[in-house]
Amino acid sequence: MAKKVTPLMKQYNSIKAKYPDALLLFRVGDFYETFGSDAVRAAKILNITLTARNNGGDQTELAGFPHHSLHTYLPKLVMAGCRVAICDQLEDPKQTKTIVKRGVTELVTPGVALNDDILESKRNNFLAAVHFGKHELGVAFLDVSTGEFLTAEGSSEYIDTLLQNFEPSEVLVSKPKRKRFTEIFGDRYHAFYMEDWIFQADFAQESLEKQFGTVSLKGFGIDHLEEGIIASGAALYYLSETRHDRLQHITRISRIAEEAYVWMDRFTIRNLELYHSTQENAITLLDVIDKTKSAMGGRLLKRWLALPLKDVVAIQKRQSGVAHFVQEQKQLELVQEALAGMYDLERLISKLATGKINPREVIQLQQSLQAVEPIQALLKGAGTKEIKAMAESLDPCDELCAIIKEALQEEAPVQLSKGNVIAKGYHEALDTLRSIASGGKEYLDAMLTRESERTGITSLKIASNNVFGYYIEVRNTHKDKVPEAWVRKQTLVSAERYITEELKEYEQKILGAEEKIAFLEQQLFSELLEKLLAFIPKVQQTATHLSRLDCLCSFAEQARSCNYKRPEFNDSYVLDIKEGRHPVIERQLPPEAPFIPNDVFLDRETQQLIMITGPNMSGKSAILRQTALIVLLAQMGSFVPAAEVTMGCVDKIFTRVGASDNISMGESTFMVEMNETASILNNISDRSLVLLDEIGRGTSTYDGISIAWAISEYLHQHPARPKTLFATHYHELNEMTDTFERIKNYNVAVKEMKDQVLFLRKLVPGGSHHSFGIHVAKMAGMPQTVLKRSQNILERLEKSHGSEELSNQMKEIGKDEMQLSFFKLDDPLLAEIREEILQLDIDTLTPVEALMKLNEIKRLLQPRDKVKLKS
Ligand code: ADP
Repeated sequence: MAKKVTPLMKQYNSIKAKYPDALLLFRVGDFYETFGSDAVRAAKILNITLTARNNGGDQTELAGFPHHSLHTYLPKLVMAGCRVAICDQLEDPKQTKTIVKRGVTELVTPGVALNDDILESKRNNFLAAVHFGKHELGVAFLDVSTGEFLTAEGSSEYIDTLLQNFEPSEVLVSKPKRKRFTEIFGDRYHAFYMEDWIFQADFAQESLEKQFGTVSLKGFGIDHLEEGIIASGAALYYLSETRHDRLQHITRISRIAEEAYVWMDRFTIRNLELYHSTQENAITLLDVIDKTKSAMGGRLLKRWLALPLKDVVAIQKRQSGVAHFVQEQKQLELVQEALAGMYDLERLISKLATGKINPREVIQLQQSLQAVEPIQALLKGAGTKEIKAMAESLDPCDELCAIIKEALQEEAPVQLSKGNVIAKGYHEALDTLRSIASGGKEYLDAMLTRESERTGITSLKIASNNVFGYYIEVRNTHKDKVPEAWVRKQTLVSAERYITEELKEYEQKILGAEEKIAFLEQQLFSELLEKLLAFIPKVQQTATHLSRLDCLCSFAEQARSCNYKRPEFNDSYVLDIKEGRHPVIERQLPPEAPFIPNDVFLDRETQQLIMITGPNMSGKSAILRQTALIVLLAQMGSFVPAAEVTMGCVDKIFTRVGASDNISMGESTFMVEMNETASILNNISDRSLVLLDEIGRGTSTYDGISIAWAISEYLHQHPARPKTLFATHYHELNEMTDTFERIKNYNVAVKEMKDQVLFLRKLVPGGSHHSFGIHVAKMAGMPQTVLKRSQNILERLEKSHGSEELSNQMKEIGKDEMQLSFFKLDDPLLAEIREEILQLDIDTLTPVEALMKLNEIKRLLQPRDKVKLKS
């Protein structure tokens, strides 16, 4: 026998079937209910009661919460990674006798959120889409809360870096590519797999053109990015699937120009702790430098940090803005104050476009725009061209402000339904209704006095009831004075009730006045929003310029408060840092023990690779990292923690940290280290900056030294001659300088006292002669017996495999290697011979054929030897 399902559950089932992978919040009366496995999940995440109810013989789990708590529970569900479908009642339950019509009004997913409770103000909330093309991958990043839309394509390594930079909350991938996606990107991202047909070129092109109202994508400079377009189309499609069809704020798409930005791979971004720390609660570079006052500025600063510039002109443009504010402190303060008082224009405008803005937020939009004018006035008087241009590009959107001011009450409430949203004098009918609703009593009192005087009836009364509405009551004693025009409605024991023409009219006006007011306010508000839509691009543009201004001011404040200096760019390959400091460490040190600054000089001719030795904890890593951070800050357009910096642009920054510094990464750390290092060696360029910290440490000493040596040698011999800092406690590597002319030794000085080491933190020329490991062990409080024993073993080892002996061997290796490098592996003759040998099928080769082949190879080599002999 078929089970009987209630009509409500029938409706639920049919809606749920359309959103099988979403958690369905089903509005029933004043509650959002969840059923079955959704209920189990929701109860667990939200910590609400799970009950069971009998549904036609079956037990169904049930969990729900009051509808007004949606804003507290929804973010929790989304942050736990749920896709949440919100199913509302689409009609007033009072107006229908059958089951209420319901439908999904919004699908909230981690990557598509507009709710302030889900969004972080200084962080973009990107939805990403990744498309696997024939040769390259395409990627799109779309933040529906700000309207930003970006795309790029490239190798999986590049896309990986971009994903790490943009930190999407959700990544869309086509179903058949699920395995590939996880193979490349692991499970770092919250992926959602969609049907393959969505990732089609024509479909994507069409939906993008439709969104932007253009006939091609040329104007955005992305028309050649076939894979990028497909990814962008998929992202846009996802918005429509999640019921976001009002997207007027997504007005453009731009290309992330790989060639415009300094390349940093995933490992480097992680190692440098730019905006994520490997340790909990540790401060990052972003924490230190972020002095932005607005949420928009904060988001842009993070973008600038992830994408430092390579174009010197663009860098200098930013620098001159910073320089201006460094000089004009008063102006800096005033501008920052104005920025601090602004609301998040980008997000407000997105809420406007999507129709999710509330009355209070519209007022905030207007107030924020009103702060633009004073900023503009301040900047107009500035001396520099850049700042003046910036002032010009700001638009206070006066017209929009005037419209809002005219239409809305200044104290408009958050909820439209609270009333008193529309300003007085904006709409005549609304004003009349309001005066009726609020001034009803006075009107009736006036009528009563008037009628008493006219009729001479002293005990008149005006009142109303549900059955007869408004009436005038006359006591029986005055019955004869009642005018003819009055119509009797009801007879009581001692009185009669009448209705007059005037009272009838009044009744009609007042009845439903409240309802009419609410309706009218709603209508006027949505008309207002409709009018404001036209200003979206203007406000967005102003928001972009304000964010930029905020970042420049942030750099200036940082420069002033932390004594940063303007780096000087030229077209050389030199990196010359005088008295550089580590921006993060210096902030953590107490004033009585300040950071010790250091000089670093690197070029391609004389000092390409610096081998930095020194004991553990002496400050090697700090020097490496501060060098990268100074370069990075410089190329963001910021001033830097150094007395003076002169540099040519760097195009790639690589950093690698030896495995034992990264124990948390898992078992095969050495393998990881080698993988990471290999990817550097395959990607270096003549403007690269390479920082290697204790590479080779994750294995035995000889193994480690050999690898470290080979890597350094490779970097030295590579035609690109990348600028390199190599920190190591293998002092044996100091021998390399004798053989390789551009390798120079430095050490972080220490002072050896009787039985302790004093760290001087100064980088000085020359190698250090031993590793001080035992000193460090002592400092760490290792028991005396262990210390003595290890000292003893060290002495014995040094005697048998003497470090001198090792050093001599190293020298020999240096010579070998130099000879070997004459034997060029890309010699075409060798390549031909190799090819010959590889082609041979040993299994079918007869001894005679083998001999003949050997003879052939010999002949190949002979003419060359003759030439050699002659010369
Ligand atoms: P190593 O890489 O040689 O083991 P680190 O660079 O990690 O050493 O430095 C160890 C600690 O020394 C850092 O955490 C920092 O607190 C301190 N330090 C490093 N360099 C300096 C410096 N120049 N001035 C002051 N303190 C420093």
